[in-house]
Amino acid sequence: MRLLQECCSGCAYCVMVCPQQALVTDGWAHLLVERCVDCNLCYYACPNRCFIPETNLDSPRLNLTQHYEVLVIGAGIGGLMTAAALARRGRRVAVFEQLSFPGGRYTGLTYRGAAVPTAAWTNLGPKSHIGRFLAELGIDEHPDRGGLRYISLRDRGLSEQYAVRFQDGRHYPSLHYMLHPEVRRAWMHAIARGRHGAPEGLSAHDYIASFCQDADLLAVVDAIAVTAAGVSSRAMPASEFIQIVLDSGAAGADFAMPAGGVATIIGALIHTLKAHGGELYLASRVQRILLKQGRACGIELAGGEQVTSDVVVHNAGPSALIRLVGSDNLPMAYCARLQSLKGAECAAIFLATREPLFEDAPILMTPGCQRIAGVFSPTCFDPSLSQDGLHLYDAFLPLQQTDRKGELALAFADLRALFPSLDAVLVWYLPMFFTDGWPGTETAQTFGQTGEKRLEPHTPIRNLYLVGMDVQGSGVAGDLIPLGVRRLLDEIG
Ligand SMILES: Cc1cc2nc3c(=O)[nH]c(=O)nc-3n(C[C@H](O)[C@H](O)[C@H](O)COP(=O)(O)OP(=O)(O)OC[C@H]3O[C@@H](n4cnc5c(N)ncnc54)[C@H](O)[C@@H]3O)c2cc1C
Ligand code: SF4
Ligand code: SF4
Repeated sequence: MRLLQECCSGCAYCVMVCPQQALVTDGWAHLLVERCVDCNLCYYACPNRCFIPETNLDSPRLNLTQHYEVLVIGAGIGGLMTAAALARRGRRVAVFEQLSFPGGRYTGLTYRGAAVPTAAWTNLGPKSHIGRFLAELGIDEHPDRGGLRYISLRDRGLSEQYAVRFQDGRHYPSLHYMLHPEVRRAWMHAIARGRHGAPEGLSAHDYIASFCQDADLLAVVDAIAVTAAGVSSRAMPASEFIQIVLDSGAAGADFAMPAGGVATIIGALIHTLKAHGGELYLASRVQRILLKQGRACGIELAGGEQVTSDVVVHNAGPSALIRLVGSDNLPMAYCARLQSLKGAECAAIFLATREPLFEDAPILMTPGCQRIAGVFSPTCFDPSLSQDGLHLYDAFLPLQQTDRKGELALAFADLRALFPSLDAVLVWYLPMFFTDGWPGTETAQTFGQTGEKRLEPHTPIRNLYLVGMDVQGSGVAGDLIPLGVRRLLDEIG
């Protein structure tokens, strides 16, 4: 196996799947050639095709002779929600995924005995958009029937979604507890007013500051914006921020994570898809969307095999759309719109510790840090996610410079200030970066890229549609995906 490091975006998926510990990361993957046994697992785990295997792995043919009503490119949560819903409506659907596992960014990989959520912490629970969409698909709380079992705050004897800790050691069990009564009133007033529409063009920071100048509150506002969407409160429109706060508030004490982590949502969607006759092909990269007289009519797989369909749904992100369709086949203005999208680039440091770092909420907002904005503890909801009884944490940071070692050094300085005992209890850690060809999102929740201004599900090419994080909707990161899926389902029936 060879590694093309220049294509690497640092997601660490390959590090997690390698059975030989032949891959390590310091923000970029490195291959320790002497340990490699050419098992090819990394080839099928890399979203950026950084690995060159000894033999060509793209040639196996699936011999798909039948015509499908809908083909879905990508088994991310957006693609799988669409496919499961359409299969349930009796449509003949097949999903093609380039990786050897489903879920894309919204998945879980086992590493050193821990179920590592890759780019998704949780889904807010049964009252979230994702939770309600799953319920409508008939995905209930019966894991034995392919359903989900949520573990809520209430189940864990907790009442708050997040606690707040500053580097100077101040720790508050909730935002409300932290705020002086006058500041609390101003905050609640700002959110209540925002329900009826925030002024256009105003950032989340400036909007809240127009009600109250409290520096601690404004730092928490920034931490919320960054952890929910990877965007600072000065870059995020006020309307988007308010939607995020309202959606989190609606989850209330039902805020939850599915037992087993968010990957079980992906498992439940696949169960539904297959139970209704839908098909999923893993390790099956699409290299072209087929067009006939200006309409999408199927796909071509990396080995050259072609599969035809009435409709093609693309879940692989805006830049891949240009590649798969060809810029010559897209109107110049649409191509320019796709190319102008600015993604959210971020990183997460996954930590396993011997002792808990905090226990009063699953999320710790960490305002005022140099880099770390928030830390999520999956084992706070489900301790069985660690086979070794360790405490697992996902510390989130937006990226501010290209020097990854520098970013990690600043992030660790934050973590040591927040958790003075960190070095004594840390067992291992793994940095995961979401940038370049595998960003946190290709369309960040920033000015000109939120709500109605995100991409519409239909494209200029007839019978070709988009789903996923980049399609219309407002709210908490992946929880806005079902909004776009619903629009797509309305359009194609
Ligand atoms: C660190 C981090 C934490 C996050 N935490 C949360 C959270 O707690 N809750 C939440 O809701 N959201 C969270 N998000 C956001 C969430 O990860 C994304 O919104 C969501 O995963 C995007 O899903 P998607 O369907 O748009 O696409 P993706 O997950 O990107 O899926 C697209 C799929 O298409 C496949 N593909 C691409 N090209 C091809 C091809 N040519 N042929 C076949 N397949 C192809 C890819 O391999 C991939 O599987 C987080 C993001 C980050 C970075
Ligand atoms: S081919 Fe297998 S052993 Fe070699 S680096 Fe990749 S995953 Fe590890
Ligand atoms: S992009 Fe991710 S999977 Fe690919 S080589 Fe880099 S770290 Fe590994």
